[in-house]
Amino acid sequence: MNPFALVSPAGLDRALLEFTPDSQWIAGGTNVLDLMKEGVARPARLIDITGLGLSQIESTERGGLRIGALASNADTAWDPLVLEAYPLLSAAILAGASPQIRNMATNGGNLLQRTRCVYFYDLGVPCNKREPGTGCPAIGGLSRQHAVLGASKYCIATHPSDMCVALAALDAVVHVHSRAGSRAIPFADFHRLPGDDPQRDSTLADGELITHIELPPAGQFVNHSAYIKVRDRASYAFALVSVAAALELDAAGAIGAARLALGGVAHKPWRRTDAEALLVGQLPSDAVFEAAADRLLEGATSQGQNGFKITMARRAIVRALSTATEGTPRAGHNDGPGRPDLKESQ
Ligand code: SF4
Repeated sequence: MNPFALVSPAGLDRALLEFTPDSQWIAGGTNVLDLMKEGVARPARLIDITGLGLSQIESTERGGLRIGALASNADTAWDPLVLEAYPLLSAAILAGASPQIRNMATNGGNLLQRTRCVYFYDLGVPCNKREPGTGCPAIGGLSRQHAVLGASKYCIATHPSDMCVALAALDAVVHVHSRAGSRAIPFADFHRLPGDDPQRDSTLADGELITHIELPPAGQFVNHSAYIKVRDRASYAFALVSVAAALELDAAGAIGAARLALGGVAHKPWRRTDAEALLVGQLPSDAVFEAAADRLLEGATSQGQNGFKITMARRAIVRALSTATEGTPRAGHNDGPGRPDLKESQ
């Protein structure tokens, strides 16, 4: 690992002043330290932001929820307000990583975690995301985990987060601060597709720091949501395909509103409002769900080893929408009372 300086500013303003182009924010460190140990990231300075007090989870005046960037993934998933009004978010977080990692990882870090493409972590091979202009060996190579939507000829990596798929479906807003001021970024605009500059994962500018994530009021989605994750083993594995689905059903059982986002298939959580619009006004049925799935997957392309994801995603979408129609499964309902995360990590 390269030598680096560590600074621990006392407050947000001080932290923003400390930022230099060769700096890296660090909180839980669950991805940053991996990147540094592999030599993929070589910051000259780490700015430890764990003391900034950005871990509150609280209701907003508008009836939504404000989730601190430094709240841990575990604290967020098991927060009573999240469990009560946003079970889709709890389910997605609990589908990710391991209890130990969820206890360390923060929400801001979850949004900014980098792809798990094996070539990205292997300094012995070229990679456009790590070193722009060197090539993409995943194209024509080991592409089983890679993107079937939104890829470019420069990069076919996927975003690895589960939490972000739920946040995309829930219309979250990411609030960021920098020395220039603050701004709010709709979740759909936070992550980006690789295009011809795949080294950039998000639209966050240098020196901007995520302070919190805001969710709009949950409405009736709370009663009909589901997160489905398909992966190679039952835990501690990244998604081959995941689906976050949420529905509002009227008194007659017809769909009044729908949210649908995919993970594991693109460089960002994949969502199309025109696919959701196909569901509105319809009575739930496999045929209706398949039509929405086909629209959401329009343009999906195999990269060689990952063509199975297209069929898998179509089936997972139908299953997620069927599950949501029946009613929201509750996170941890098979684990008894309390927080399994804490029990398992002790
Ligand atoms: Fe690098 Fe992206 Fe290609 Fe993976 S898919 S090798 S991250 S350029």
